[in-house]
Amino acid sequence: MSAAPDRRTPVAVLGATGAVGQSFIRLLEGHPWFRLAEVAASERSAGKAYGEAARWVGNSDMPADIRAMTVRACDPSDVTSGIVFSALDSSVAGEAEAAFARAGRMVLSNAKNFRMDDDVPLVIPEVNADHLALLDMQRKNRGWTGAIITNANCASIMAVMPLAPLHAAFGINRLFIATMQAVSGAGYPGVPSLDILGNVVPYIKDEEPKIETEIQKMLGRRVNGRIEPATMVISAHANRVPVENGHTVCLSIGFERRVSAADALEVLRAWRGDPAAHGLPSSPERALVVTDLPDRPQPRRDVDAGRGMTVTVGRVRDDALFDVKMVAMGHNTIRGAAGASVLNAELLVASDRMTGA
Ligand code: NAP
Repeated sequence: MSAAPDRRTPVAVLGATGAVGQSFIRLLEGHPWFRLAEVAASERSAGKAYGEAARWVGNSDMPADIRAMTVRACDPSDVTSGIVFSALDSSVAGEAEAAFARAGRMVLSNAKNFRMDDDVPLVIPEVNADHLALLDMQRKNRGWTGAIITNANCASIMAVMPLAPLHAAFGINRLFIATMQAVSGAGYPGVPSLDILGNVVPYIKDEEPKIETEIQKMLGRRVNGRIEPATMVISAHANRVPVENGHTVCLSIGFERRVSAADALEVLRAWRGDPAAHGLPSSPERALVVTDLPDRPQPRRDVDAGRGMTVTVGRVRDDALFDVKMVAMGHNTIRGAAGASVLNAELLVASDRMTGA
C-alpha cells in the first residue's frame, strides 16, 4: 500500500543556517499545515548539504531529512515555495525579500528592513491581526503579486504582550523599558564569549530606536487604511546579558488616568488576545501568563512556557514614578522570531489573505 500524499503546503526558509533559521527548522518539523521543502542561505553555504553547511546549535538533534537537503541560493529562481520564511541578516534581507515578494511569494520576515514601512504589516496575531489589511495597500503601491509581512524585534514582542491589553483598557502615555537580552538574540556565533561571560554589555546596536518605534506601530490603530502609531512617549535601554535564551524586559508604565497594580493585574489575567489567533497550530493555550511568584519570570525557569510561545509577566506592582511596573520574559528565537513568523503565516492562511483581495 502506498503512503498517503503529503498535502501540506511546501515552504522555504531563507537564512536557514543561522540561529533563527534553525529555530524555524525545529518549529516546522511535523507542522500540520506546512512542509519544509527548501532551505537557503548565503553563497558560502549554497550547494552544500545542510548538515555540512550549518553548525547546529540547541539541544535537539538536527532532523534527519533536513541534514541531507541541498542548501539553495536566496534567489526566487532557485527557491520555488509560495511561502517563504526569512531569517536573513538585515544586510541582505531588503533586496532578497523584495525579490521574492515581486516573484509572487508570501514572505514572512524577521529582519528589520521593511518593518516600519507604511504599507508593511508588523504583526503579533494576538495583538493586531487587523494590521494585515495593510497588504492591500502594499500590493497596490508596489505592484507585487506576493507580499512581505514582518514580525518585530524580539525585545519589542515581549514588551507588547502585556502592554497591548493595558493600552486597550487604560491608554498608555509613558513607558520606560529596560531590556536584558539573551546572547542567542545576536545570532551565531554572536557576541564573543570574552565580552559577555560574567558581564553585561549596555549597548545593542540600533536596538533602542527599534524598540521605541516598533512598539508604537504595533499598538497603533488602523485609520482610513493606514496605521496611526500609538502616541505614548517611550524611553528604552537595551542590554546584552549572559543568558542563552530568553529576553527579559522591565517596564514602568504611565497611563492617561490613575491605574493601580491591582487594576493592571485584573486586565492582564483576563486577556486572551484577538480570537483570530486562537486555535492556530502554533498558538499557545495562553499567549500571556501572569505569575505571582515573587522572583519570576526567569529565563531559565520560564523560557519554554507554551513551547516558547508564551510570554510570562510578573512582579506587577505600583510604581512611584509612573503608575505600574512589571517584568515580562519570553523566548527570543521562538515567540520573538521564528515562532512569531510561523504564527503570522498561519494567520494569513486562516484569514484567507494569501492572495490579494
Ligand atoms: P545569524 O545566526 O547570523 O544567521 C544569518 C543567516 O543569514 C544565515 O543563514 C546566513 O547564511 C544568512 N546570510 C548571511 N549573509 C547572507 C548573504 N549575503 N546571502 C544570503 N544569506 C546570507 O542571524 P540570526 O540571529 O538567525 O538572525 C536572522 C535575522 O533575524 C536577522 O535579521 C535578525 O536581526 C533577526 N532576528 C533575530 C532574532 C534572534 O533572537 N536571534 C530575533 C528577532 C529577529 P550563512 O550561514 O550561509 O552565512
